[in-house]
Amino acid sequence: MSQHVEDIQPSYPLFTNDEYKENLARKKEMYEDCHSQQKIDEVFEWSTTEEYKELNFSRKALTINPAKACQPLGAVLCALGFEKTMPYVHGSQGCVAYFRSYFNRHFKEPIACVSDSMTEDAAVFGGQKNMCDGLENCKVLYKPDMIAVSTTCMAEVIGDDLNAFIGNARKKGHVPEDFPIPFAHTPSFVGSHTTGWDSMFEGVMRYFTLKHMEDKEVASNGKINIVPGFETYLGNFRVIQRMLKEMDVDYT
Ligand code: SF4
Repeated sequence: MSQHVEDIQPSYPLFTNDEYKENLARKKEMYEDCHSQQKIDEVFEWSTTEEYKELNFSRKALTINPAKACQPLGAVLCALGFEKTMPYVHGSQGCVAYFRSYFNRHFKEPIACVSDSMTEDAAVFGGQKNMCDGLENCKVLYKPDMIAVSTTCMAEVIGDDLNAFIGNARKKGHVPEDFPIPFAHTPSFVGSHTTGWDSMFEGVMRYFTLKHMEDKEVASNGKINIVPGFETYLGNFRVIQRMLKEMDVDYT
């Protein structure tokens, strides 16, 4: 078993287990009906030819009304991009079940995400208690290095203030004062999943620049940090990496 009840691991350490890698390779071989590596290399080579370029640029089809999902879904994907980070959604549990099944289906992998499961009482009196218990449980159960908090419509409609709620949870001792908990308000009645991704990214950057810049100096490490935005097509990352390598650009 890749998971054990005494030691539940989120995606990142789980995916690096030898046992998990073996399971994945077996799943690929038995159920996914994959093409051979030779065929994959052949198509890759073809996709770098002039013939492919001509075909690609002559396409006329275009999507007028692209599929649109809600803001916290984007925020969850953004949080998953940071190492050992647990996405945490302040709001109703059903929304998070939807985000998880959406990503499960797309990536064909288990996706870690927690919710503080607000119900009718929280909708009337506010979700402070849910936030305190939720942050504490999340930290104890999953042992992440960072928890990235976003919100569902419900928390936004009643006006829960994440800055105050997280601050109160720290003051009451549910999470340590110095534990990183960036946050973003992600109301789904405006914007879309891309807005949510951007807001969460801004929230993480804001947290680390506002709180930890006192003794830092503006400088460069000589690398470019590529921020792709809401990007679920992993093949695009490989293409970006290849382009950067060909241009001799050092990146993170
Ligand atoms: S209720 Fe709001 S946050 Fe939840 S899934 Fe629907 S649009 Fe998204």
